[in-house]
Amino acid sequence: MNHVKQFGGGSSEGRAKDKALLGGKGANLAEMAALGLPVPPGFTITTEVCRHVMAHGVGNYPADLAAEVDTALAAVETLTKTTFGDAENPLLVSVRSGAPASMPGMMDTILNLGLNDTTVAALAKQTGNPRFAWDCYRRFVGMYGEVVLGVVAASEAEHEPFDVILDDVKKKYRANRDQDLTEEALRDTVALFKAKVKEVTGTAFPDDVKTQLWGAIGAVFHSWNNARADYYRKMHGIPASMGTAVNVQAMVFGNLGDDCATGVAFTRNPATGTPELYGEFLTNAQGEDVVAGIRTPEPIAELAKTQPAAHAELVRVAKLLEDHFRDMQDLEFTIQRSQLFMLQTRNGKRTGKAMVRVAVDLVAEGKLTQKEAVLRIDPAKLDEVLHPTIDPKARPPSIGKGLPASPGAAIGKVVFTAGAAEEWAGRGERVILVRTDTSPEDIHGMKAAVGILTSRGGMTSHAAVVARGMGKCCVTSCTSLRVDAPKKVAMFVGGGKELRLKEGDVLTLDGSTGEVYLGPAPLVPAQLGNELGTLMQWVDSFRTLKVRTNADTPTDARTARSFGAEGIGLCRTEHMFFEPDRILAVREMILAETEAGRRTALAKILPMQRGDFAELFRVMDGLPVTIRLLDPPLHEFLPHAQKDIDEVAADLGVQPSVIAAKVAELTEANPMLGHRGCRLAITYPEIYEIQAQAIAEAALEVTNAGGKVLPEIMIPLVMVPEELKRLRALVQTAVDKVLGGKVPYTIGTMIELPRACVVADKIAEHADFFSFGTNDLTQTTFGLSRDDAGRFLPAYVDGGVLPVDPFVALDQDGVGALIELGVRGGRATKPDLKVGICGEHGGEPSSVEFCHRAGFNYVSCSPFRVPIARVAAARAALSIEKSS
Ligand code: PEP
Ligand code: MG
Repeated sequence: MNHVKQFGGGSSEGRAKDKALLGGKGANLAEMAALGLPVPPGFTITTEVCRHVMAHGVGNYPADLAAEVDTALAAVETLTKTTFGDAENPLLVSVRSGAPASMPGMMDTILNLGLNDTTVAALAKQTGNPRFAWDCYRRFVGMYGEVVLGVVAASEAEHEPFDVILDDVKKKYRANRDQDLTEEALRDTVALFKAKVKEVTGTAFPDDVKTQLWGAIGAVFHSWNNARADYYRKMHGIPASMGTAVNVQAMVFGNLGDDCATGVAFTRNPATGTPELYGEFLTNAQGEDVVAGIRTPEPIAELAKTQPAAHAELVRVAKLLEDHFRDMQDLEFTIQRSQLFMLQTRNGKRTGKAMVRVAVDLVAEGKLTQKEAVLRIDPAKLDEVLHPTIDPKARPPSIGKGLPASPGAAIGKVVFTAGAAEEWAGRGERVILVRTDTSPEDIHGMKAAVGILTSRGGMTSHAAVVARGMGKCCVTSCTSLRVDAPKKVAMFVGGGKELRLKEGDVLTLDGSTGEVYLGPAPLVPAQLGNELGTLMQWVDSFRTLKVRTNADTPTDARTARSFGAEGIGLCRTEHMFFEPDRILAVREMILAETEAGRRTALAKILPMQRGDFAELFRVMDGLPVTIRLLDPPLHEFLPHAQKDIDEVAADLGVQPSVIAAKVAELTEANPMLGHRGCRLAITYPEIYEIQAQAIAEAALEVTNAGGKVLPEIMIPLVMVPEELKRLRALVQTAVDKVLGGKVPYTIGTMIELPRACVVADKIAEHADFFSFGTNDLTQTTFGLSRDDAGRFLPAYVDGGVLPVDPFVALDQDGVGALIELGVRGGRATKPDLKVGICGEHGGEPSSVEFCHRAGFNYVSCSPFRVPIARVAAARAALSIEKSS
């Protein structure tokens, strides 16, 4: 068949490799069925049909689809010995979406489809359990009503209409929990749900099972284009043209009694990577109960006690699937009358810590090669492993504890809705989203928050799964917490005490222990485990690109070395100028009217800079240290507050009004295109001269004390070769006067203007190295102010005008083309010219991979991103090796 692929009964028309056509879920169901695993039979409608629907409108299917669905349905009927809509022996199916990429936010699942007033009676008779049959029916009408017919709350603050009805029914029948509802209560619920559907939609709930099926199929395709799915796709760079598949599968029931269960399991612990079957299940329940977090599930180890045979089978299947896919699997299963059925397998989402541990363990177990393991690492996810945690020695008293759903620590102000999270974060606040549980509607808010806390749900609830995917700290199932979102309050109860939280109160979450603290807690730097060390050894053996750090202080330099930095690629000397003990001298220098005045001020700065540089040389201990001479527009240093103006005036012995007038005179309309970079030294050569002298004296001091130094002096913002020619001569004279040839050093330039890329061959005549300043190069190539573009760039990215923010990931088509031109030009003049990057892109994985391909010698990035850049560099080298 063209549009529909069947699976089940020990064979399948598709395989795991058909993900693009069958979606992730459908392809792996097919694979499991082909492997002979217990999979309820079913079929997958392909993503091509979704693309057809997108092109022709909802409900416009390919002409032969209906016939193919009938054929596939007949096959399922044969395998299950049931008939769809039959009054004696009805087939019930689930309908699920399944795109090639995991996509929360789309329609997920409709269970028990095929039930109506006739078939529910048959199900009751067959199972001998009318309560069960009516429970299935009320779930179906509820799910279908919500998802297909759109009977939902009008706003986030309102309760869902079906929840309100169910709560009323519970009150009427004095039932505390869903499980306590009697058959009569469930019959009532179905009638009330249907009445609600009629009231909201104006039409009756469909009894015809074929109408139900096509309604559900249509809803899946429709959900591909809903706002939530669209938002998620944009966030993760998933193309809309990919489309989703629809999986229709015979139902198996985890809620037929105590010999039934449903659950999710990971073949390894997704938070830590520990090799153990990890997960949770609910006895006598349907799948949605686990994910929705309505009841708190039990850990999988308990299943070994209650259902040993099914547990043993699950262990066997889990191992088989992990070995087959050679990766940690995330499984969904149902046990019906002690028999295990597999409903899904996929590569499991994991924390950064688990990602590293699983990759290293799979190599040790002989399942992956070292190269494959490195290619499995998502460099950006390493961030989580490298981030600070709460200081164990200084923990404040905890006010609650939940499950450690996604690690790391977060401190922020409490908000209770996704909307508020976005609004507060938009004002620059760090917020913690506190909810009873989360749903796909909350994704915006989860993204805006630094941490997520829920009172319900397990380790695999929506909140936990999404937070782990985002690498965000998350605590779920904090059972002492009661949230009242409409009133914007929450209560921690327990120990006979109550603690009230309101919007804006500060909480600290520990996503690694599940602990919740009131107020901010002290944090400590990340501890890097043995596995990361092992992985990094492999990484370093595969990469050819060196990784340096951008560091202005000895502390940064030490951190970066502990992360494996192989030198400093950028020390922004001006950062040292802002220290309180020197800013006055800097201002004095800027405001001086004469060279003599500037030299007097510079003489005060010289010994301080010498000390700074000497310390950096000592920390880096023989590794190259690139020191950039003064770069920023001078207005950044000028006094603006009256107090500062008074202070500088007193120091210079003039009236404050004189200083104020001078400040006004130096103001520029476009300071980033103004008197900055090497232009400062063309007008005031003594600035670079004194800085060069300070570098040389520091180098000599450390060398004389037995240390090894490799200074690289860097001149910023060169636009014409003549600038570099003159300034190189100036710097060289100053340095040689001090060093007299005793210490080798180099002089190079930043390439950060389009013109410099174009005339790079001529600039290279005067440069020992190039370092691409991609922050300014992006700014000047796009003509986008790096200081102001943030106000409207999000609209470009959200609206799809730009794929990503070019200040985050290097624009390879535009800025990248200029860089390639610059490298070619530079090396045409000097074939061995050393080339690096020191803009923010130097730590962003896709940009690092670009630098590798462009033939760079090194990238330089902030200390915490050094390991990320090392992995990205290795992956770049391995990908090229693989494709050649
Ligand atoms: C750059 O422009 O990329 C750069 C590294 O310099 P700065 O950010 O200091 O302008
Ligand atoms: Mg710059």
